[in-house]
Amino acid sequence: MVPSDTIAQHFRLAMPVAAALRKIGITTIHDLLYHFPARYDQGGTESSIAGLSIGQATIFGTIHALETKKSWKRKIPVGEAKLRDASGSIKIMWFHQPYVVKKFSEGMFVKASGMVSGKDGSLYLANPHIEPADPIETGIFAATPENTDAPIFPVYPESRGVSSLWFRHALKRVLNAGAHGIEDPIPSAIREKYRLPSLDTALVWIHAPERLSHAEAARKRFAFEEMFVLQIQKALDRLENDTRTAFPVNEGEKFARTFLKSLPFRSTHAQQRAIHDILRDFKKQHPMARLLEGDVGSGKTAVAAATAYAIVNSRPPERTSGTLQIAYMAPTEILAQQHFQSFIEYFKNLPINIALMTGSGCKKFPSKAHRHKATSISRAQLLKWIANGEIAMLVGTHALIQKSVVFQHLAYCIVDEQHRFGTRQRAALLQKPSPMHAKPVPHFLSMTATPIPRTLALTMYGDLDLSILDELPPGRTTITTEIVRSSHRTQAYERMRSELKKGRQAYVVCPRIEEPDPQKEHAVQAKSAKAEAARLQKDIFPEYEIGLLHGAMKPAEKDAVMARFACGKTHVLVATSVVEVGINVPNATVILIEGAERFGLAQLHQLRGRVQRSSHPPMCFLVSDTASHTSTTRLRALAHSSDGFKLAEIDLKTRGAGDLWGKKQWGISDIGMDALQNIRLIRAAREEATRVVQSDPHLTNHRALRARISSLAEKLHEE
Ligand code: ADP
Ligand code: MG
Repeated sequence: MVPSDTIAQHFRLAMPVAAALRKIGITTIHDLLYHFPARYDQGGTESSIAGLSIGQATIFGTIHALETKKSWKRKIPVGEAKLRDASGSIKIMWFHQPYVVKKFSEGMFVKASGMVSGKDGSLYLANPHIEPADPIETGIFAATPENTDAPIFPVYPESRGVSSLWFRHALKRVLNAGAHGIEDPIPSAIREKYRLPSLDTALVWIHAPERLSHAEAARKRFAFEEMFVLQIQKALDRLENDTRTAFPVNEGEKFARTFLKSLPFRSTHAQQRAIHDILRDFKKQHPMARLLEGDVGSGKTAVAAATAYAIVNSRPPERTSGTLQIAYMAPTEILAQQHFQSFIEYFKNLPINIALMTGSGCKKFPSKAHRHKATSISRAQLLKWIANGEIAMLVGTHALIQKSVVFQHLAYCIVDEQHRFGTRQRAALLQKPSPMHAKPVPHFLSMTATPIPRTLALTMYGDLDLSILDELPPGRTTITTEIVRSSHRTQAYERMRSELKKGRQAYVVCPRIEEPDPQKEHAVQAKSAKAEAARLQKDIFPEYEIGLLHGAMKPAEKDAVMARFACGKTHVLVATSVVEVGINVPNATVILIEGAERFGLAQLHQLRGRVQRSSHPPMCFLVSDTASHTSTTRLRALAHSSDGFKLAEIDLKTRGAGDLWGKKQWGISDIGMDALQNIRLIRAAREEATRVVQSDPHLTNHRALRARISSLAEKLHEE
């Protein structure tokens, strides 16, 4: 049996099983071995959480969701937390000593002893004694005292057609067959340093553990492995980037200064720092690879424009005419359109051509007939002008990465909201075919307003240098954020009406597009944008025009709706979270979000950013009837903090990464997502990976690692 063998070579598969395996992407023995249980069941042990019953217990696990509150019945202060092990989680309550929670931190590994109380189904550990058990110093991987008599059953992620039992049997056979032939990608020195079990041991421990502590140790190991391999990839990317050449742009500062002087406002210090970072990178031999992170309204576009200005004022080497070219990619047509307009405005005094390319058409500025207007042109014509260098700046959507789009001197790629593009699309943009033989690689700037936790940034953007806009332009008043019960919605509407009377505009955001099917039992009861738009028009704001925007609309329809709202004809825009991405209507000052508890905090923060675009004091109403303490606490955090990155960290702690930053989007497994809770693990994986790549850039002495990296690359290619 070798890891690349297909499962069908060794197992007789019933049709539904074969189909189910294919559907979850398991074809080889290697895939099977790396399909991990979601949790474990164990019959009646005291020390695994799943097996707890009322009485004294000692449990090893990690602490989560620490909070203090008043018990609602007796009004006494309590500290609360969750204790989690491989089998499940249990609530911890410290009555009369809420301050205890301060002694612990999220994700801490501890030994908890105390009384299990409550009712079956809602057990909790009352006033337990807790000792920190540092996983690195005391060894999370040491055996923990537990009942080893009770058998442990791995439970695999739910998938129709193939049961946990099937996986248990299949894996037992594979593991019993002896050598499975997979080499350990983690070098032994690193394994020893972090006390990680070897691959052989960990595979047995994760699929057929005799102790839950073994399963936990194995999961940590695979989490480390995944992050380590990812970081090796990022380190290799950085190394490769440094071997490429870019168009050097040496006089950037001069042009950027001229540009900044032409603006009606003074750039913030943060903007100046970011511009400086970028211009410094432009002077280097190798292309820039940089991420610009900044809250909505922090002025990222101005940074992009100032640096783009430096590029379009630079001549290609050994040329007397034409300029270097820029590609600016936005996630939606609306945004591409908006940025096209902004750049026309920014560059109107320059003798350069700017073009727009989206799925629904192409435009060029200036038009031959009207010096101050853009005109529609054919795609074929635009492609020609891009290829011969006449277009200095091309703004667009995904349409830009099509093969037919060939630049003459593409020197700078800017991608707005990169997380909406896959890694592969980014590669496609940077490797735009160019007729020149020794082709320089464009400088790359990715911009995002999506606040993501530090661990996720280090993991997913580990190959990029970072500039942060941590300062909003002056004069923006801070937003008032209020939590409103639905019974008080009318008051919120009245305050909205008084803004509308002043000539301002408003957004109403709903969690869904359509009404749920009432026939369906579990239909989510949430406001739908369609029904809400109709209701507001008829019953609440008959004197105003209500618009409707949602993701299921055609791009042209969306554009029309946005255009009406942007010019003020529509007063209230009812929308789904599609408005989250960078739409800029400075006259909008109120946003009301229905079912607010359904959204992530970072997302809510982005949504309210829609009304922080002007100097009028903005307002945000979060409508929620949630009874959940955690939800209320989360929403309050939003009312109190205006720091998107802090909110993202709170999201990560209270809801977990998988829930919020769809793991599909990042291509990280469940175990990997759990690892994002652990900054120490992420840092360690990154440091070790950097060291390995520095000492062995071709991974000549790390064969298993090299194999893993090339299979990663293959997967990316197939996507
Ligand atoms: P972001 O893309 O980061 O959300 P934008 O670049 O779209 O932000 O800027 C938001 C608004 O603020 C725009 O109208 C822009 O013209 C304006 N702006 C940008 N920088 C400044 C500044 N330093 N001072 C005042 N206004 C600014
Ligand atoms: Mg923007």
